[in-house]
Amino acid sequence: MAKRTYGHEYGFATRAVHTGNDVDGESGALRRPITMANSYELPYDPTSVSWSTPGGNLYTRNGGTNQGYLQEKIASLENGEDCVVLASGVAALSGLFFALLQQGDHVVFSSVTYIACYRLLNELFNGKFGVETTIVDTTDPENVRKAMRPNTKLVHIETPGNPTLMVSDIAEIAKIAHEGGALLSVDNTFASPYCQRPIDLGADFVIESLTKYINGHGDSMGGAIIGRKEHLDVIRAQSQINLGGAISPFNAWLIMRGASTLPLRMRQHNESALKIARYLEANEKISFVAYPGLESDPGHAVACKQMEHGFGGVMAFGLKGSHDDHCKFVSKLKVITNAVSLGHDESLIVFLGENDERQYLYPEKFHNGFFRFSVGLEDAEDLIADIQQALDQI
Ligand SMILES: *Cc1c(COP(=O)(O)O)cnc(C)c1O
Repeated sequence: MAKRTYGHEYGFATRAVHTGNDVDGESGALRRPITMANSYELPYDPTSVSWSTPGGNLYTRNGGTNQGYLQEKIASLENGEDCVVLASGVAALSGLFFALLQQGDHVVFSSVTYIACYRLLNELFNGKFGVETTIVDTTDPENVRKAMRPNTKLVHIETPGNPTLMVSDIAEIAKIAHEGGALLSVDNTFASPYCQRPIDLGADFVIESLTKYINGHGDSMGGAIIGRKEHLDVIRAQSQINLGGAISPFNAWLIMRGASTLPLRMRQHNESALKIARYLEANEKISFVAYPGLESDPGHAVACKQMEHGFGGVMAFGLKGSHDDHCKFVSKLKVITNAVSLGHDESLIVFLGENDERQYLYPEKFHNGFFRFSVGLEDAEDLIADIQQALDQI
């Protein structure tokens, strides 16, 4: 069976459906099978095989079929040359940092990032391995310029950032990083490649937690690093094989299935989130709403420039009320679920209290505690009614 390829002459939705899938050569099935094997048959003389080489059908930590299919799809959706998929978004972050950074290198990173990214760069890589790190508010690219040093190897930003939704200008920061001889990586998890494609804006690497929008159904974990082949070859050899965060074939298959509806789902997430953000903004019990789709949001202008197809489904907001009012509000919700994670089919909300250790890095309006709210695919009217009835009880 000849392999069908879907290059960039095809649109995003066509590639989301077809890229990486093909007719199964053995059975003629329209879906490639899940290969639940951790090992493959060796050649007649295996002594010349390198156990530390990526790819080839050798051992699933070196690479496997389902992982390869998913890599093909994700690379295509992000407009990247190559992709490595791993067991989680955090495996992707640590795999990138591990392969790229050496003792004495310097990293500049966003003051608002996923908590594990903050721990990796602010505590582990610097504390254990002597990598210098500087936290800056990357919503102003000038702060990045000021933080650059001769040994700056990497600038890492997250936009929109988790959990405050702060927006950083990818194209501007790419210019600054490259002028200083550094590489730029962008965590694109909140936007997904449907809304924003950092490589087109000059980024060298994209990180995705596949666990979120790309899988979209809350039933598996995965992570991806997208970038140029010259870099990803090193990441594959050093981080995938030797750190060992390989994705399971079953999870790769689930994410592959979820990803085919990414454009449809994102359109709905974007539309419902904007509607709900507007409703919240107009409600007198709400202290603030952070959502880059709102004209009032400080990140709106930059978001309009770089988020081509919508602003995603995640927002943050607070109540004019006490700590307990926030807990009570969540306890009264009937449709929206009290849980972490985001980008699922169902709506998820989490209360992030006023005792967050990174509060000093957030704007003041976040200091009394706030919610991170991931708008799901339910009817927007039902979600608004759910929020309204919970607000009525506090
Ligand atoms: C969830 C998340 C991660 C980590 O992904 P996991 O799949 O949970 O390991 C990284 N970055 C962002 C922005 C996230 O939201």
